[in-house]
Amino acid sequence: MAAEDPLKRQESEPGGFSWAAVRRDLFQSTLVAPYDEDPGDIEFSRRLTIYRLMQLVMLAALVVVIIDSSSVLPDAFSLLASAVAAALLVVATSLWVFRRGTFLLPPIIPLLATLGVILWSIASGNAQHYFWLFPLMVALAGLLSTTIAVALGLVVIASLIVMQRADMHPWSVVNDLILVITLVLVIGVMRLVARQSKELADLALTDPLTGAYNRRYLMPQAQRNLADYQRYMRLSSLLLIDLDHFKSINDDYGHATGDRVLQGVVKLISDRIRGVDMLFRLGGEEFVVLLTEVASPSAVKVAEELRKMIKALELLPDRSVTVSIGVCDVSQTASPTDWLGLVDSAMYRAKQKGRDRVEAIQSSKGAVAGELVNITAWR
Ligand code: GH3
Ligand code: MG
Ligand code: MG
Repeated sequence: MAAEDPLKRQESEPGGFSWAAVRRDLFQSTLVAPYDEDPGDIEFSRRLTIYRLMQLVMLAALVVVIIDSSSVLPDAFSLLASAVAAALLVVATSLWVFRRGTFLLPPIIPLLATLGVILWSIASGNAQHYFWLFPLMVALAGLLSTTIAVALGLVVIASLIVMQRADMHPWSVVNDLILVITLVLVIGVMRLVARQSKELADLALTDPLTGAYNRRYLMPQAQRNLADYQRYMRLSSLLLIDLDHFKSINDDYGHATGDRVLQGVVKLISDRIRGVDMLFRLGGEEFVVLLTEVASPSAVKVAEELRKMIKALELLPDRSVTVSIGVCDVSQTASPTDWLGLVDSAMYRAKQKGRDRVEAIQSSKGAVAGELVNITAWR
């Protein structure tokens, strides 16, 4: 069910130490763009927006260095050449992000290049370029994990102190201190924004009554699993679970009891499926379970077990709650809508055959090859 962590498949949020985040910042050159219209990828679009804004800042800083470098005597040419190279790098990554929506290079690369050029320019005598470090601290906090942002921030401050040591003014110490405060402040704000966007996503994607994911989140997840099948032959299955004669439960016991039945059923299902599986409330008393890397034959076993367990659950004082379940794996479908339509027809067949049963759409033979069928769906 959703309640655990609706966005757990995403990268860890900025903040909190994680080696995965460190590796991502340092080595990953392409953050794969999310499937279109996946409302769960709020974090990705947030990073992308910050990335675009920060590229403008970096470009502006580099252009100013390029213009000013003529006034720097000893290193004029090499500084100019480095600034031009860094600017071209930033322009290339900007165009890439603009056209493709993915990162050409890890954000740390253009950032390091820009910071290097700015520090060099300051060291060469352009003291006024110090002020570019303030927006660049925002870029550090916005684009990198907290650990790397802090580490890089310290490296920048240390380089400044080394530069200033010959001629240490009280105001330069104050400036460095303000720079550190800026970094700490921006990291705090960025973490807050990340937490809030995650909370918003949780609210937008889950059903308040049961805590299951809602319908809005189902389509992109089905699309993702369909793409995984088309690319890697990974078979996933959908179960469509509809409570039998639920209207009469409401009529006989009241709406509040009906609600508790829905919650009880969701709790049971989410306790039984694996962490990688997902449970959605399609609406009313209809639920969808997405079983990842499980082909139809195993999915039918899961559905049978769920059906029996729900029936055995004592949700009502004098009768059991039964469900009709449709099962369909991804092998027969071309689109998420198609997939839902098929699993719905299987569920409808279960209703017609007298309810309290599981009906499956036959998996296409070619697709159910090898070990995928045998992956156990149960934990
Ligand atoms: P069938 O076996 O054919 O599925 O019959 P059914 O009565 O389950 O199906 P039907 O679609 O006729 O009725 C669904 C009922 O679910 C009607 C509606 O009042 C009730 N319902 C929908 N959402 C909620 C909810 O959030 N809480 C409660 N308590 N009832 C709900
Ligand atoms: Mg029903
Ligand atoms: Mg229904």
